[in-house]
Amino acid sequence: MKSFDILTIFPEVCTPYLETSILGRAQEKKLVRIAAHNLRDWSPDKKHKKVDDKPFGGGPGMVMGIQAFDQALKKLKRKNARVILTSASGKRFTQADAKRLAKYDQLIFLCGRYEGVDHRVEKHLADEALSIGDYVLTGGELPALAMIDAITRLIPGVLGKEASLTMESHDTPGVLEYPQYTRPEVYPFKKDRKIKKLRVPTVLLSGHHEKITHWRQKQTKGHTRNV
Ligand code: SAM
Repeated sequence: MKSFDILTIFPEVCTPYLETSILGRAQEKKLVRIAAHNLRDWSPDKKHKKVDDKPFGGGPGMVMGIQAFDQALKKLKRKNARVILTSASGKRFTQADAKRLAKYDQLIFLCGRYEGVDHRVEKHLADEALSIGDYVLTGGELPALAMIDAITRLIPGVLGKEASLTMESHDTPGVLEYPQYTRPEVYPFKKDRKIKKLRVPTVLLSGHHEKITHWRQKQTKGHTRNV
């Protein structure tokens, strides 16, 4: 069974997401094991459980130290594991990374807070540093959850219909999925005191599978993003 371990000072923000919907069911079905650990349990400071300190050289805020991360990894890391530091300055995480990382037996996510993490963690403890986008969040928990979510749904048996994984956005880099519609066929949309009838493309109601496939392929082609 594939394992995910999250090292954070706020495990409680991860748990509700991990227990809900597809990730929750994947754990119930024993397809994955996901655990959020409190990094403070490995703090060298037995009294106050501190895991951060002032930055050398001066500057604002606090930096998370190497000690607790190192001790936690010594306890948790097993064979065929990959250690990922969440970092706003890391390489941008993509669908190709999700596929690559899905091959490891264990993924351990290190979550920073405050001004970030002592650089020795990235250099000596982590196998790679990944960012989920070019913006700065307050902590690494959302990035860890986003990556775990993207990786877990690729594991066979996790999604109800494996077909959901084919023709998805980013499966081929830069190629996006065709537009999807559901009932009602016509929706009376009120805007600026006028009613506009929003209709589903007629080809999707035709029942003609070949024409539908052709329409979807055409939509997908016109629906790309630069990578
Ligand atoms: N001072 C850091 C910088 O300028 O790059 C930002 C630190 S941020 C406030 C605190 C933590 O949030 C980081 O150590 C990292 O774990 C996480 N984080 C913030 N933005 C992220 C992003 N876009 N992708 C991944 N992790 C991120």
